[in-house]
Amino acid sequence: MYCPTCHEEIPNQVDVCPACGAPIERKPLTLPFFGELDSSTITAISIVLILAGLIGVAMQAMGLI
Ligand SMILES: [Zn+2]
Repeated sequence: MYCPTCHEEIPNQVDVCPACGAPIERKPLTLPFFGELDSSTITAISIVLILAGLIGVAMQAMGLI
């Protein structure tokens, strides 16, 4: 990643830029696309994704992938 203050390349894990000393704000992982959905819709999407993941694992286990 790059420092937002001095634009030096910096490691992802740092809290402070080693080049200029500016504090690095790491934004929490957000999904802008889902921002306008209500929580029940998000829950439904989550269940679908989990099921898809389980199906993928099952197919891998059966040697289909
Ligand atoms: Zn910096």
